[in-house]
Amino acid sequence: MNALYLIKLGEISLKDGNRAEFLQKLKWDIKRRMAGIENVVEAKDGRYYLTVPEESCPRAEFVLSRTPGVNGWARAIRTEKDMDELSRIGIELMKGKAASGASSFKVEARRSDKGFPLESYDIMRELGAVILENVPGIRVDVRNPEAIVYVEIREKAYLYTDGEPGVRGLPVGSGGTGLLLLSGGIDSPVAGYRMLTRGLALESLYFHAYPYTSKEAWEKVRDLAGILAGYGGGMSLHTAPFTEVQLKIKKDAPADRTTLYLRACMMLAADMVARRRNLNALVTGESLGQVASQTAENMRFTGSFTDYAILRPLAGTDKEDTVLEARAIGSYDISIRPYEDCCVLFSPRHPLLKARYEEERCAFKSLGFDQVVSEAVEALETTQMPCVPALTLP
Ligand code: ATP
Ligand code: MG
Repeated sequence: MNALYLIKLGEISLKDGNRAEFLQKLKWDIKRRMAGIENVVEAKDGRYYLTVPEESCPRAEFVLSRTPGVNGWARAIRTEKDMDELSRIGIELMKGKAASGASSFKVEARRSDKGFPLESYDIMRELGAVILENVPGIRVDVRNPEAIVYVEIREKAYLYTDGEPGVRGLPVGSGGTGLLLLSGGIDSPVAGYRMLTRGLALESLYFHAYPYTSKEAWEKVRDLAGILAGYGGGMSLHTAPFTEVQLKIKKDAPADRTTLYLRACMMLAADMVARRRNLNALVTGESLGQVASQTAENMRFTGSFTDYAILRPLAGTDKEDTVLEARAIGSYDISIRPYEDCCVLFSPRHPLLKARYEEERCAFKSLGFDQVVSEAVEALETTQMPCVPALTLP
């Protein structure tokens, strides 16, 4: 037995000139995420349809819930445009909902094939009546139904009861590829997620200062990259050993500038990695005013070590909202594991709040970080995170 999924598209369908290209990207992306599993993706009438063998439903549902560009999806039944058939299936679907506890329902119909003899309203009325008559113990409730039977009359008829949300946005890769500076905190995974849903494919970069930051801290970042890989359709996690950089900062930098200079070194390194990997942008989880290194002045300073666009999708987001989003995407519980990413040894008690641009750049340059940062980038190690967690889903 095969299962059919109806896929609703959002913003892509509004695109004018390059709509076909976006649609093609989405189709490839779904195919790529379903690789190794028998599947058919069809485009019809501004919708996509995915067909997979019944046993691959968990994987299809994992993928459809996480693929940017998908606005919503539903497991559906495709049938002929015939009222008897629609009634039979509608009753069947509602019996299923009643068995799992629904006691009220309504029918929602949409007719995009205007050649179909009944109008939407008539379909709802007729089908509603037939279902009511044939499913014991249910009533109609148009305001607040516990179940909705959806009917769409297109080139064929489609019926379904449970619509699920997608992550919306644009297909991954339609906006190029960025490098996410991924720490073990709450912000950067959310920043990555936001950019993925705007069509930016991502690789991620973590600066690891072993043994000042532990193996568990790295595993935390790896697991966060794993969560993002589910949305991105896989992800490379690059780890740069930053201990020597940190030690040099500790030794040479004024105490109130250690975090600021560390961020500057991170930008320098990220710039080198992006160049090597031929990427298009950098992404961070910075939020204006969150900590001393994230004032406008300090971001101007740290940002001056790259000429890539630095995308900071959380710049204007309240931390509480970031936390809610982190919970929704599944990164929060990993982010709050207790392993600190930034060792207190390196955190100044009274950090500089407003770097004076020219002065600070001169001071930083005179310390000569290029060499030690290049060495960290030379020693980069890459871990490939799969799109679908291995072994868990058929
Ligand atoms: P997050 O911002 O993710 O909660 P954090 O609060 O530990 O982590 P901040 O001090 O706010 O990090 O750093 C701002 C941004 O700098 C992070 O969002 C991230 O993009 C980047 N960053 C910080 N530390 C690292 C690191 N060790 N490796 C990679 N990127 C980092
Ligand atoms: Mg932060």
